[in-house]
Amino acid sequence: MLTYTPPIRDMQFVLYELLDALQLSQLEGFEEVNRELIDSILEEAGKLTGEVLQPLNHSGDEQGCQFNNGQVTTPEGFKAAYRQFCEGGWTALACEPEFGGSGLPKTINTLLEEMICSANLSFGIYPGLSFGAYSAISRYASDDLKQIYLPKLADGSWSGTMCLTEPQCGTDLGLCRTKAQPQEDGSFKLTGNKIFISAGEHDLTDNIIHLVLARTPDAPEGIKGISLFLVPKKCPDGDTLTDNQVGCGGIEHKMGIKASSTCQINFDDATGWLVGDLHKGMRAMFTMMNQARLAVGIQGLGLAEASYQGARDYARERLQGRALSGVKAPDRPADPIIVHPDVRRMLLTQKAYTEGCRAFGLWVAIQLDISRKHCDKTVRQDADEFVQLTTPVVKALFTDLGFECTNLGMQVLGGHGFIRENGMEQLVRDTRIAQIYEGTNGIQALDLIGRKMPQKAGRYLRHFFHPVQDYLEQQQNNAELAEFTGPLSKAFGRLQKASQQVALTGLKSPEAAAAVASDYLRLFGLVALGYMWCRMAEQALQHPDDDSGFYTAKLHTARFFMQKLLPQNSSLFASIMAGESSMMELESEHF
Ligand SMILES: Cc1cc2nc3c(=O)[nH]c(=O)nc-3n(C[C@H](O)[C@H](O)[C@H](O)COP(=O)(O)OP(=O)(O)OC[C@H]3O[C@@H](n4cnc5c(N)ncnc54)[C@H](O)[C@@H]3O)c2cc1C
Repeated sequence: MLTYTPPIRDMQFVLYELLDALQLSQLEGFEEVNRELIDSILEEAGKLTGEVLQPLNHSGDEQGCQFNNGQVTTPEGFKAAYRQFCEGGWTALACEPEFGGSGLPKTINTLLEEMICSANLSFGIYPGLSFGAYSAISRYASDDLKQIYLPKLADGSWSGTMCLTEPQCGTDLGLCRTKAQPQEDGSFKLTGNKIFISAGEHDLTDNIIHLVLARTPDAPEGIKGISLFLVPKKCPDGDTLTDNQVGCGGIEHKMGIKASSTCQINFDDATGWLVGDLHKGMRAMFTMMNQARLAVGIQGLGLAEASYQGARDYARERLQGRALSGVKAPDRPADPIIVHPDVRRMLLTQKAYTEGCRAFGLWVAIQLDISRKHCDKTVRQDADEFVQLTTPVVKALFTDLGFECTNLGMQVLGGHGFIRENGMEQLVRDTRIAQIYEGTNGIQALDLIGRKMPQKAGRYLRHFFHPVQDYLEQQQNNAELAEFTGPLSKAFGRLQKASQQVALTGLKSPEAAAAVASDYLRLFGLVALGYMWCRMAEQALQHPDDDSGFYTAKLHTARFFMQKLLPQNSSLFASIMAGESSMMELESEHF
């Protein structure tokens, strides 16, 4: 059975040695943040996730959620674990102090999210959605709604959802049909059916707060007519909760995240309140969706880490065959499989992607905190543009690599990886959804090339390109680092050329640009990881007398990334330059 040890040493390396995360203490409201505080949170989060959440992961998968008479029951142990989670203040970590939160940086929350996802993704979806709802209400709702709902979401006694999807309305939210009828008292009555609603109904909290996309009677057609509404399962009136017209019609039976309830939610003249401006629902919902997209990226990372740990531990123990370079364990009947090159290829791929994503993800998280709290408006704006640019990359790259890594982890265990009791196949099944929800990865790629790249004549893109360019220039005479900067420089050159090509093509033919969007996102992501690996190698080189093995491993992994994974950039570049004709000329009926 799998166990999980939070990668606290690596998290500390990224925070303190690579990214100077203690700069966060200079931001307004984060003055108390210091190394001691962060380390103690990491340690406590590590205990909770490793000792409480992870042991429920397998049983949660086996039992799944149960639906009975409109009620959903979570698997055994989830209620008690959720209570412990709330009592520990974990739901409130990044919520504002005025609503009972701890007011800590998003960066610290990102580390917590990674640990939760490694330990038990299904569990993490409940508080994850609540925090998304908290953020959208905090930013867009009226003061009255904030006073009623935010303290309850912060302390975890109520949970949140996002209700976008309907049977005919998935990616294309303009097809939303749920109706919102205005009432004289300023509230609305909502009627419609939402499907696939995560945490839509469950037994963990006293109330569930749905954030629902719907259309008022006078609304324009399509996406411009959508508004956002807060619709509680039970309407609060002082301390009393009265049932609202919100029902659960059933739960989905799905491939993974079986302990997370995925519900059909029916609104039947349910009372709700507008959040944000009328017909500007997408803007408000995007607060939640952007946060959720980063969080889903972290799901991919968390599961990749869990799978890596399982595969590594197994590869050290499992005895099969002999090393081709000569026997390594003469006193045993065979060598451990970690001696075999192909097993090393799989483990190093997992390690290089996972640690690279962790570093890149935390860079983005720090910029997110800066974008909210820095005293200088220009710095805030630059950071915000960087986060907007990189959000689709984090979502799609991390989840694609998360799936690749969990699949490799299963392969390392051979047939035992395919057997349920061993836990590795659950990670593959659980991670697969992350490529789909919160906007499929194909849609993330379109967002990158269609919305983010053209912004302000390429200004968003420059927030990523300039740091990489400056770094390569600074390091051009660093001979020791040349084995890392050389490959990065080549890949970066290709990314720049590909960006020009996509931008020019997009002006003439949006379809031609869209055809290469996924390849472009992957190329962007590989360069981003390459940049992080160069900087990690630079740090590691400063510790030539490393007794712990930590820096030695970093250097070896950096080499593996540069020599074995980054070269994919050249085939991606070729595919991008080949354009779209081979994809678009085949008639639909000839498929
Ligand atoms: C377990 C689970 C949990 C979920 N949780 C929630 C939730 O909490 N709240 C919620 O509202 N929804 C939720 N969803 C819904 C999820 O976000 C959608 O399934 C997803 O956005 C895709 O929509 P769809 O399934 O209708 O696919 P479609 O939109 O029908 O897409 C089908 C395929 O076509 C592609 N495609 C569609 N349009 C385009 C385009 N314009 N260009 C290129 N490709 C395109 C897509 O990428 C995809 O590959 C959940 C789904 C699942 C399975």
